[in-house]
Amino acid sequence: MNKHHLLLLASICVALTACDRETKPQPEPTTAASPRVELQLTDELRARLAAADAVDGKTDHVIEKCVSCKLQMGGTPEFTSTVADYRVQLCSAGCKKAFEGDPGKLLLALPAAKP
Ligand SMILES: [Zn+2]
Repeated sequence: MNKHHLLLLASICVALTACDRETKPQPEPTTAASPRVELQLTDELRARLAAADAVDGKTDHVIEKCVSCKLQMGGTPEFTSTVADYRVQLCSAGCKKAFEGDPGKLLLALPAAKP
């Protein structure tokens, strides 16, 4: 092993130790950072949110089905957006991005609530 190798190894060790120290003390739950989506709420949008909330059988202000997939897919807490006072769980990063890009349009695209 030559001098160059030793230097390289040493710097890797330092980098790893520093990294380890930085990441350890923050055990943040993945659901904590759900960005709030700005949306001008109309009566129509409120009705869609309420209907989407009720789809999972509970009116708990958590929409568990993926809005971007027209409620056909199950959402996951890993991809959560907050709109009005609802937590919206999407099924993938792409769906989350789509929802946050135009939440009003996607909500209005949902099947209408049953009378
Ligand atoms: Zn989806």
